Amino acid sequence: MATIGFIGLGNMGGPMARNLVNAGHGVKVFDLSPEAVNFAVQAGARAATSVADAAGGVEFVVTMLPVGRNVRDVYLGPDGAIAAADPGTVLLDSSTIDVETAQAVHAAAAEAGLEMLDAPVSGGTGGAEAGTLTFMCGGDRAVFEKASAVLSGMGKNLVLAGGPGLGQAAKICNNMVAGITNLAVCEAFVLGEKLGLDHQTLFDIMSTSSAACFSLSHACPVPGPVPSSPANRDFQPGFAAALMLKDLRLAQSASQMSGAATPMGAEAAALYALFCNAGNGEMDTTAIIKLIRGEG
Ligand code: NAD
Repeated sequence: MATIGFIGLGNMGGPMARNLVNAGHGVKVFDLSPEAVNFAVQAGARAATSVADAAGGVEFVVTMLPVGRNVRDVYLGPDGAIAAADPGTVLLDSSTIDVETAQAVHAAAAEAGLEMLDAPVSGGTGGAEAGTLTFMCGGDRAVFEKASAVLSGMGKNLVLAGGPGLGQAAKICNNMVAGITNLAVCEAFVLGEKLGLDHQTLFDIMSTSSAACFSLSHACPVPGPVPSSPANRDFQPGFAAALMLKDLRLAQSASQMSGAATPMGAEAAALYALFCNAGNGEMDTTAIIKLIRGEG
């Protein structure tokens, strides 16, 4: 069993840290929110007092933070995790962030004699709770193999996507599809409502037809057909719309940088920007069905 410092105990990191405790690892936790730390401590983790305290004296550091700026804050700088970590510590960043930041942290880690994987996840809060996340990793194969014992405490599918930053590249592609299909499913339910179709009936048909997809089966945007969907709890996240907008913008900036044409991704980013700018960023991504319906 490993010793692990876990930083960022939000909707995803909270249950991921608890799963590591339940798997028998020794877990030290830190978050800016004392409530989040207390919750993890109740599950059997030890409280750290700072990023440096969480990152020192452990074999692995896992981070699950909102955006690239948070990742730079936590890893880089005199009080950051890289300065505090013991030589040989493996750093695992599971946040969804831009490829450039991931590569900058990889480079700083290597300079300090530390190993690193960018290891973003897919599977949502349900996958985080159940320990069934998919990890898409960027870095060296030897580090990936060493980290597998820790990652398998939180996920079922571990994939090495390629070198440093390519885990984030895979995640950006994945979430662009998730953003587009979520909008497509919302549009279909609103069209179905206008045409007089019952939600459950439409769900039963689409989920066994060519419209079947993760957005429909796990995050159905109307209450009823999928009890675990945020649509049944007034769209509390789940996966906040602001985070989806962030990911769609990451895809757009990667498209511009690489010259790829991603017009559907661009449209999805524009729709999420409208929704978030109207004050809905804290709601779950599925709440965008309200915009499609013309509500609020
Ligand atoms: P969240 O906002 O619920 O949690 C982030 C946590 O990080 C918060 O508790 C916050 O206090 C903490 N934090 C921020 N800055 C910190 C710092 N400097 N030091 C310590 N703690 C700090 O976000 P989330 O939904 O858990 O998502 C985290 C990441 O995972 C994001 O990059 C997101 O895009 C990605 N992701 C989310 C989901 C999902 O369904 N929610 C799914 C896959 C990937």
